[in-house]
Amino acid sequence: MKNTLRKRILVTGGAGFIGSHLCERLLGLGYDVVCMDNYFTGSKSNILHLLDNPYFELVRHDVTVPFMAEIDQIYNLACPASPIHYQHNPIKTVKTSVMGAINMLGLAKRVGARILQASTSEVYGDPNVHPQPENYWGNVNPIGIRSCYDEGKRCAETLFMDYHRQHNIDIKIIRIFNTYGPRMHPQDGRVVSNFIMQALKGKDITIYGDGSQTRSFQYVDDLVEGMLRMMDSDSSFIGPVNLGNPVEFTMLELAEHIVALTGSSSKIKHFKLPKDDPKQRKPEIALAKKELGWEPKIQLEEGLLKTIAYFKDMV
Ligand code: NAD
Ligand code: UDP
Repeated sequence: MKNTLRKRILVTGGAGFIGSHLCERLLGLGYDVVCMDNYFTGSKSNILHLLDNPYFELVRHDVTVPFMAEIDQIYNLACPASPIHYQHNPIKTVKTSVMGAINMLGLAKRVGARILQASTSEVYGDPNVHPQPENYWGNVNPIGIRSCYDEGKRCAETLFMDYHRQHNIDIKIIRIFNTYGPRMHPQDGRVVSNFIMQALKGKDITIYGDGSQTRSFQYVDDLVEGMLRMMDSDSSFIGPVNLGNPVEFTMLELAEHIVALTGSSSKIKHFKLPKDDPKQRKPEIALAKKELGWEPKIQLEEGLLKTIAYFKDMV
């Protein structure tokens, strides 16, 4: 039986960076939260502080295997997000995105739950339209080393749309742009965690290429707010919708900010640019503003200071 008093929410990948913040926020709002994870890149330490809450339930489970639960909503986040993690076992990455989507959509169909897919700006690939609006179809290499992630996520979006059209499943798709904050994996090789750890240890800051490539960085609390608004939006609005911070920085600027904010003596060093590394990425967020009344509130300096404070304990 479904819970008639409190909504029961399933968060796949709930022990990961974004998932742990989402679980925390959902519990704070009075929901009953089921956190499912296989701990590939997530960890119990991310959700340790939630374990005493009787409305929090932790399940070790792989999303590629069907899952039974009576729930009202599903946030489907299970998937490694950083290139070194998703390239570790690329076949598994595709299975996680594709079979994970099929299993969670099947669950949504059986219990009549609303389901939100955490898609990504990577569906735009190395974009030749800038900034990227949702109606841009992208420029993705289907056979490259990033394809397991990019194409896996694109196929998941396809499945969501087909389950919606064919079975009238209540779906939501968000495309998340680079997100950072406390509980990012310190060794995930992503630019924010790398630069902060390097700066705190006084090591060289590793810029790949000349550092002119751009990204726009969203603080995790802003993203979680957007996710909640999307989940609660009118059923006629299914997305996809971009959730990201449109303020764009070059990697060189990011390095300089982090060195200044940490008061580090680290020097910048240049290394080879990884293959298929997108040159620029910036979300067009007019749709999120119009449909969800959402825009990011936390700008880079404030978010970086909170993230640096978290990483300081690890050095
Ligand atoms: P993360 O790696 O910290 O979290 C992913 C979680 O999924 C981890 O806890 C991991 O153990 C779990 N997981 C992986 N494979 C699984 C499987 N087969 N079964 C069950 N659990 C599995 O990454 P994150 O940054 O928190 O990303 C969460 C979601 O958001 C991902 O779907 C990712 O693609 C998406 N996203 C993140 C970003 C970003 O900048 N962080 C950007 C775009 C999209
Ligand atoms: N990057 C870098 N140094 C690092 C890690 C990453 O210069 O130590 C660059 C990377 O080449 C890319 C950008 O930072 O251009 C963002 O990389 P990340 O892996 O964080 O995210 P994504 O490429 O998936 O947006």
